[in-house]
Amino acid sequence: MLVNKIKELKKEKDAVILAHNYQLPEVQEAADYLGDSLELAKLSKKLTNKVVICCGVMFMAETIKILSPEKKVLLPVLTAGCPLADQITPEQLIELKEKNPEAKVVSYVNSTAKIKALTDVCCTSANAVSVVKNFPAKKIIFVPDRNLGWWVKTNVPEKEIILWNGGCPVHEDFNIDEVFIAKKKYPKAKIMAHPECHKEILQQADFITSTSGMLRIAKQDDAKSYIIATEEGMIYRLKKENPDKEFYSLGINKICKDMKKITLENLYNSLKTENFPIDMPSGIVSAARLSLENMVQYV
Ligand code: SF4
Repeated sequence: MLVNKIKELKKEKDAVILAHNYQLPEVQEAADYLGDSLELAKLSKKLTNKVVICCGVMFMAETIKILSPEKKVLLPVLTAGCPLADQITPEQLIELKEKNPEAKVVSYVNSTAKIKALTDVCCTSANAVSVVKNFPAKKIIFVPDRNLGWWVKTNVPEKEIILWNGGCPVHEDFNIDEVFIAKKKYPKAKIMAHPECHKEILQQADFITSTSGMLRIAKQDDAKSYIIATEEGMIYRLKKENPDKEFYSLGINKICKDMKKITLENLYNSLKTENFPIDMPSGIVSAARLSLENMVQYV
């Protein structure tokens, strides 16, 4: 069985498998650890394994490498990218900085390493509001997600925030009709929405939160059922960890094609051939690391 072969190879190569919450169920089952992008990157720093396999997309593998440059970090499919992260280029950010020299750059962790390297401080969906609020700058350039940026702007009205016009195609696909249909179908269910969703969805949500926030709320909150507005892979973990509760996806086919590029087959091949290693120029790694490390001061 492929799962057993993966286990054997993992031991042989001193490798650890980290998988994002949106991965296919069988990949989640094969993983040693699950989490959101920053949780996985922070975890990899603590682990002693020589090889880290990132079951996720390119910016996640890059973030792991940035925080653990001494490890061999592998992404099983090189084309597993993030359409949101790719919506701003370094040249565009440099131009925006030149137009607003007094502004500081806050980048969502769903950004490329090159963007992080041009950033003053990174944030996650869970801490974006506190990072922008506490960062000592009156004017902020927030990239690349306009919906998370809108949520931040709403909660930090005292600052001038320039939003980049990027969006996650999966989260932007949720629409208000789906909310009304789901509410009618599951009247007792509470809505948990990821802040990458449109503001119309966020305004209807009981909880606006990251994937790690969804897991925490599902454990602590007393509701018995939830409508989930994020990538569908999240439902598998929510159900597994809360077997006494019900979770329904808002709408259908809310799937990130890039996340789903990772399969047991290519995970196995990645372990076997040690492909594809993530490498970046040291200048990018050190500048990007600084922007990630800066984050802890402002949460
Ligand atoms: S779900 Fe959206 S933000 Fe996450 S990897 Fe896919 S495209 Fe990028």
